[in-house]
Amino acid sequence: MIQLKTEASQALYEEANLYTPGGVHTSIRNVEPHLVFTRAEGAYIYDADGNKYIDYQAAFGPYILGHNHPYVNGKVIEALQRTDLFGNGTTDLEIELAKKICKHVPSAEQVLFCNSGSEATYHAIRLARAVTGRPKLIKFQGCYHGWHDYVARNMLSAWDMVGKRDPGSAGMLEEALDNTLICTYNDLADVEQTLQREEGSVAAIIVEPIPHNIGCILPREGFLAGLKKLCEAHGALLIFDEVITGFRHDIGGFQKVAGVTPDLTTMGKAMANGFPIAAVAGKRKYMERFNTKPGGDVWFAGTYNGHAVGTAAAIATIELMEQEPVHETIFRLGDHVRSEIRGILDRLGIQGVVSGFGSVWTTYFMDFEPKHYAELQHNDAEFYVAYRKKLMEKGIFKLPMNLKRNHISYSHTQADIDYTLEMIETVLKELKSS
Ligand code: PMP
Repeated sequence: MIQLKTEASQALYEEANLYTPGGVHTSIRNVEPHLVFTRAEGAYIYDADGNKYIDYQAAFGPYILGHNHPYVNGKVIEALQRTDLFGNGTTDLEIELAKKICKHVPSAEQVLFCNSGSEATYHAIRLARAVTGRPKLIKFQGCYHGWHDYVARNMLSAWDMVGKRDPGSAGMLEEALDNTLICTYNDLADVEQTLQREEGSVAAIIVEPIPHNIGCILPREGFLAGLKKLCEAHGALLIFDEVITGFRHDIGGFQKVAGVTPDLTTMGKAMANGFPIAAVAGKRKYMERFNTKPGGDVWFAGTYNGHAVGTAAAIATIELMEQEPVHETIFRLGDHVRSEIRGILDRLGIQGVVSGFGSVWTTYFMDFEPKHYAELQHNDAEFYVAYRKKLMEKGIFKLPMNLKRNHISYSHTQADIDYTLEMIETVLKELKSS
């Protein structure tokens, strides 16, 4: 059994705090225990004290092939030996990657690259405003689309802020809050009423096709197709934010699985197996409004857009998905994990719902399948966090935070999964008897 040592991490974390507020560079990385990571390979990550973990956090999703993947790294190094970044024109890597995305992703007639998911959603929303000439956006309570003002309201709201104006951050523009309308996921009637109430002023609906930022709430039959119909009826654009689901749930994104083609799509994370690149894609008639095309009137720019590192990594990641049974393998492991955990919960008499899709799963400790964010207050958050913390002590890394999901990569072996399941049973037994 692994004993978690944290002395070296703690010392480094204190040093980090001298130079960086909170010692970390993204808000929700500051969860106890404060670990300092020093190495990553395949399904495993290692901290400064030499603890080894089987990683299911996957840095919030990018690692679909596994950390430090030799094929992807090889292609990145090869690219860097001949090229990097230019202030004009385009590169062979950008063209090759754009072709691949347009080939695989149903909504992608054209695509543009940027560096993060937040940038991608920002661009998609601004484009929708330009196309429709309307100011407002509908987003769903609990969905996360990045850090900028247009989407930061009503993300992981405190339960008493659901249904209220939850800014999500200090310093937000009041106008941005006014122009972002919040609906309930899986509730088409709510969306329809909002569109009717705001007739003529909604530019777009943005949605995570599966809201993975709150675990795994699956869309009800007809929900995504219903959103598309409502958008068509009310003259708004439909944006699928596939920053998590894109390439993870299918090489063509969840839109391919669902058979619903949005007007615009944002992608990132699993697209490049951990390297920094993101994309916004959509119908040619909309994409051509961006001023990367002469005459376009929607500003699109970024010094690092199309850098060789990100483009080469994305090409290599997609190539591997084209050549090897990546999705088939991780989906099989995902199905196995979900059914085994259900068996464990049954055996131990613990109330829980194992929800997920493909390689992603979440175990909510509640007695019914949640349909939207507010219902997640029935999840036993204390138990959820304690469960993940205890698993970490056994060498299984899942961020010990409420509602976080787990990801399986192409590097996880059956032995990793078997050990994980054994530890899940052990930990649940311990928690039940404590
Ligand atoms: N959209 C979704 C669905 C996300 O999960 C995230 C990041 N978790 C983002 C957008 C923002 O991406 P980034 O962190 O790369 O800015």
